[in-house]
Amino acid sequence: MSNSGQSHPLFELLCQIVGADHVADADFVRRSYTRGPFQTLGGGLRGRVPGIVVRPADTDQVARIMGLANESRTPVVPKGGGGSVAAFPPPHVGHDGNILLDTTRLDRIEIDRESMTVTAQSGAILASVQTEARKRGLHFFAVDVPVHMDTIGGVCSGFLGGGEPSDVATSGPMNAYLLGLTVVLPTGLVVRTGGGPGTNVRQPKTLHREAGSPDMTGLFVGDGGAFGIKTEATYTLHPAPTSYFQVVYEIGSSERMWAAYTRLVETAPFPYTRLLAFREPGDTWHFFVVIRGHSDDEVALRRSIVDDIIAEHGGCGAADGANITRIAKMFSARRLGQQVLQNGSAMTYFGEGLIPRPRTLEYLAALNRLIDTELRDLHIVKRVEFTVPFLRSTTITGVLLYFGDGTTRDAVSETLYKKTFHKLHEILSGEFGGFTEACQGEPAALNASMWSPEYKQFMRTIKSALDPNDILMPSLWKI
Ligand SMILES: Cc1cc2nc3c(=O)[nH]c(=O)nc-3n(C[C@H](O)[C@H](O)[C@H](O)COP(=O)(O)OP(=O)(O)OC[C@H]3O[C@@H](n4cnc5c(N)ncnc54)[C@H](O)[C@@H]3O)c2cc1C
Repeated sequence: MSNSGQSHPLFELLCQIVGADHVADADFVRRSYTRGPFQTLGGGLRGRVPGIVVRPADTDQVARIMGLANESRTPVVPKGGGGSVAAFPPPHVGHDGNILLDTTRLDRIEIDRESMTVTAQSGAILASVQTEARKRGLHFFAVDVPVHMDTIGGVCSGFLGGGEPSDVATSGPMNAYLLGLTVVLPTGLVVRTGGGPGTNVRQPKTLHREAGSPDMTGLFVGDGGAFGIKTEATYTLHPAPTSYFQVVYEIGSSERMWAAYTRLVETAPFPYTRLLAFREPGDTWHFFVVIRGHSDDEVALRRSIVDDIIAEHGGCGAADGANITRIAKMFSARRLGQQVLQNGSAMTYFGEGLIPRPRTLEYLAALNRLIDTELRDLHIVKRVEFTVPFLRSTTITGVLLYFGDGTTRDAVSETLYKKTFHKLHEILSGEFGGFTEACQGEPAALNASMWSPEYKQFMRTIKSALDPNDILMPSLWKI
């Protein structure tokens, strides 16, 4: 079967760079790149069909593709694992001739045990990086859910803080562990950020984030791919925890839950590793707590601190532990499909966003009002309010919704998009001064719509300096 369909003008030239097996402009290949999990998560739309797909094998090939794109003024859209939560490729980016640059052949992973770092190419899947680290007794902070799908480059570009690990409540974002990047700039120039070979030509390894230069790594974190194509990243690794404990507590009313939550979040060092507060409407609040440590004694001590705080606020171990644990586990999408989805059509993390911590409960009330007014025609079989602290100042808060068989996946997607997408933005960003976590597609433009005039000018200046022909993810932010 031929890879060539409508004969994109760059087909032959791209074949010369990466080989004919890794270029395709046949209709069925291009269309296959427009489907993703975002459809069930409320993105509603399919992505923009690219003009041609190319799969480079190394940084040099990426740089040559960018050179060609500049000469021909053809927009480029980089793609990793396809775990986007917004319609991808973004419908508002570029035109029908877009080059989609699929990074999944860039999958080399190298662990430096002595320096306790991992250097992975941008198409490496997070679960594979985690597995390689674990073989050496080390821990790589990766996202919880699409860990078997997300790539290093995709999560670093497309999500808040370069990705929110499972332990975000205490670990902070993946950005905190990132030491440096290899980036192909839109012009084709290759730069290495971080304290390493880019900033000290005598140092072959990337060992530090800030050494030797201003911290330029962060410029490319959460850029939605608009400032450059990452081809490699170095992260610091931690000793792998050896002890694990999980428990569900029943805490009662919103007042009691909030007092205990505040106390837990304000305690140092954090006694928990993960903390999730959740309830079904009208029901009692519960905490799902995970403690990971490096010895049983450490975990026991931390557990006693959590137990005491819960008891002081009138809470106790959950009576119906097994059932409650089942609900708590619905938050892990590794279990999606094994839970409510067996009897349903779709789910969404409704309104999930980054909220100033003191306004968390108020935000949940606003989300519930929106669900009651706008989604009443959908068959909702499970509704669970949740909040997870993001370190100490903010929370990740939303409502988990599962839809029943009576509602088709397409109806859910369409209704969520048409009736709530823009209203959610007004509430989250406008009313509460919060932020969407996605730095990709339409949410990137929604984020940018809240930028101050000075900040917009600053971003335009950087973008035009890096990308004078505006060919990498053009108009992603619509500014
Ligand atoms: C069910 C579900 C649950 C999720 N839960 C979490 C979670 O717990 N924590 C979390 O952090 N995230 C979570 N996400 C979001 C997910 O991690 C992000 O959408 C992530 O960006 C996807 O990575 P990817 O490799 O699949 O990238 P893609 O979807 O392929 O791309 C994402 C963005 O990055 C750009 N991009 C991709 N590769 C590169 C590159 N090499 N250089 C420059 N730009 C590039 C793309 O153009 C796009 O803008 C969840 C997503 C789903 C579907």
